[in-house]
Amino acid sequence: AFDVLVVGGGPAGAAAAIYAARKGIRTGVAAERFGGQVLDTLAIENFISVQHTEGPKLAAALEQHVREYEVDIMNLQRATRLVPAGADGLVEVQLENGASLKSKSVILSTGARWRQMNVPGENEYRNKGVAYCPHCDGPLFKGKRVAVIGGGNSGVEAAIDLAGIVSHVTVFEFDSKLRADQVLQAKLNSLPNVTVVLNAQTTEVLGDGQKVTGLAYTDRVGGDSHRVELEGIFVQIGLLPNTEWLRGTVELSGRGEIVIDERGQTSVPGVFAAGDCTTVPYKQIIIAMGAGSTAALSAFDHLIRTSAP
Ligand code: FAD
Repeated sequence: AFDVLVVGGGPAGAAAAIYAARKGIRTGVAAERFGGQVLDTLAIENFISVQHTEGPKLAAALEQHVREYEVDIMNLQRATRLVPAGADGLVEVQLENGASLKSKSVILSTGARWRQMNVPGENEYRNKGVAYCPHCDGPLFKGKRVAVIGGGNSGVEAAIDLAGIVSHVTVFEFDSKLRADQVLQAKLNSLPNVTVVLNAQTTEVLGDGQKVTGLAYTDRVGGDSHRVELEGIFVQIGLLPNTEWLRGTVELSGRGEIVIDERGQTSVPGVFAAGDCTTVPYKQIIIAMGAGSTAALSAFDHLIRTSAP
């Protein structure tokens, strides 16, 4: 059995594995896709001390650093069930391929995925004008025109944030009213370079083959179609944590995030969690790495308190 089994191989999982392995304990990582969301990212300019890097490069560096240690990396393995420890004190993680792994402690770092609009052009122009993270990609659109899709709290927060950087922001909301908190709506309405379009059903991301040039939408009330010229589209219609497989075993928030305390402890003894799959307030690479390190140190602390000497 492992001492620490990490489920997920993104920034949080890689950091957890390195911190655990450096304690000289038996460490394993099972990941569906080692590298995680970082693999889908192009420019990264907020990984402190590294002015500029690219997703695939950072993902390769994560794996290389983990491989410096004696860590059993099980890539392309999807966990489907977690069974809390019984009398033997071992937590079990069942995999899609039928195998089952046992460990004295487990760190869940399965990350999250952005909900997509699912319209033509969205995938084609991903990272070429279609973006999901204003903290990451906002500065790339300095002085340009952007759309924010979604008028909930994250959409309106993104619009307020972007309005300070870009020349103009148009918020597209499907519903007949914004769903964000009043205080955010008031702030949004006070900004001179923001327009809100309600009842808007986005139908297509328009581009010139290289980059985004606009957005097409249908007015759900009048039924007529419109095209707006712009350079960027921030999709803010939800971040879905990869925690469906934990439902009923580990306490999840209303949004499906794993509830953790400041040490990364979940509701199940010996099970810790870190990164975008948890209730941590901001979802970023550097935050996920810090959280992964915290979870590994907490798991080690758990082991020295519960394992026989
Ligand atoms: P993830 O990176 O999501 O990794 C999750 C891991 O768990 C993966 O290995 C996955 O395959 C695995 N997994 C999932 N389910 C299972 C399962 N059931 N069984 C086994 N394994 C599983 N952040 C920044 O700080 N700067 C940026 O510039 C930036 N740009 C971004 C651009 C894009 C397009 C996207 C999508 C995100 C960006 N982010 C950026 C956010 C950043 O990528 C995430 O915050 C970070 O990757 C979260 O790390 P994580 O380890 O928690 O999860």
